[in-house]
Amino acid sequence: MTDREGRRRAITMPPGMTDARAWEKQRALARARLPPQFAEIVTNTGVGKVVLIGDALAGFRPHTVASTSQAAFDAMIFADYVEGKVSREEWKRQTLGFARYIQKRGVDMGEHSQHMDLPLEDHIHDRNVASTPRQDEVYPEWATSF
Ligand SMILES: Cc1cc2nc3c(=O)[nH]c(=O)nc-3n(C[C@H](O)[C@H](O)[C@H](O)COP(=O)(O)OP(=O)(O)OC[C@H]3O[C@@H](n4cnc5c(N)ncnc54)[C@H](O)[C@@H]3O)c2cc1C
Repeated sequence: MTDREGRRRAITMPPGMTDARAWEKQRALARARLPPQFAEIVTNTGVGKVVLIGDALAGFRPHTVASTSQAAFDAMIFADYVEGKVSREEWKRQTLGFARYIQKRGVDMGEHSQHMDLPLEDHIHDRNVASTPRQDEVYPEWATSF
């Protein structure tokens, strides 16, 4: 990707650096090729922020059994946030706290099961912890400090 000052960006385009001509090319492609609903999203997208939810926010390992649940919850609480039913702080705490905590849980479980010689009880404990209902999770401070 080449930004509006001609510098090549290997991974991401920082806010405000998109080349207007490149963006217009994407709009033209969207109008020509996408279904009308998606074309509308692309052509009406201006400068602003993108909210990441679900897998885009945090990709969990399968053994956390939490991925679809995360995507559904993130969508629902974002709707509540937009409607003013939950505060910005609560929305961030619930989405980012869960994302960080469960992502680490998945990595820890993987380390335990693949690289450590632990007693069976420890694996059963990991399995049981992964089945904690979302409303009973207690996020550690590192997961919810922003
Ligand atoms: C094989 C497999 C098995 C799984 N099993 C489980 C399971 O048992 N339990 C569980 O909880 N989770 C499971 N998951 C994970 C679960 O499917 C995902 O976590 C969940 O679907 C994420 O939802 P999402 O809405 O965040 O993303 P997605 O479901 O990936 O939705 C993203 C959507 O965006 C669309 N899209 C992408 N790019 C563009 C673009 N440029 N323009 C427009 N649209 C675009 C995609 O087509 C897609 O429809 C599994 C995943 C896989 C692949």
